[in-house]
Amino acid sequence: MIDLYDLYQELILDHNRRPRNRRKLEDPSCQAEGYNPLCGDRVTVYLKIEDSVVTEATFDGSGCAISTASASLMTESVKGKSLEDAKALFRKFHGMLTGQSIETADGPDLGKLEVFSGVCRFPARVKCATLAWHTANAAWEKRETVVSTE
Ligand code: ZN
Repeated sequence: MIDLYDLYQELILDHNRRPRNRRKLEDPSCQAEGYNPLCGDRVTVYLKIEDSVVTEATFDGSGCAISTASASLMTESVKGKSLEDAKALFRKFHGMLTGQSIETADGPDLGKLEVFSGVCRFPARVKCATLAWHTANAAWEKRETVVSTE
């Protein structure tokens, strides 16, 4: 029998050991820095957005296993998605972790991100898991307040 909890743990450990997209982006459309003082996690998220599609998403920083794995999975999840879908994913992910789960068929599936559903039982770790997402959200919101002449 497969123990889902172990499976999920394994995914988090794997992304912590080998974070995907952990590099600075040379010419991002937007970027933001996030800090979680409760745990000491720091993350910088870089996004490239073209025609309202997130074409590149990377991160840099250091933190605990959960914050690193979450940043890694966040960049994998939003890359290639429309900005609208990426925002919907952020809302769903945030809802799942804060216990305000929105049971809706709208928007993209959480997919691998459900690995973090158990984190809501550990309130102190919720900020670790959501840090990269809040930072990505700050990055794309910032971009929208900048007037573009493109
Ligand atoms: Zn942390």
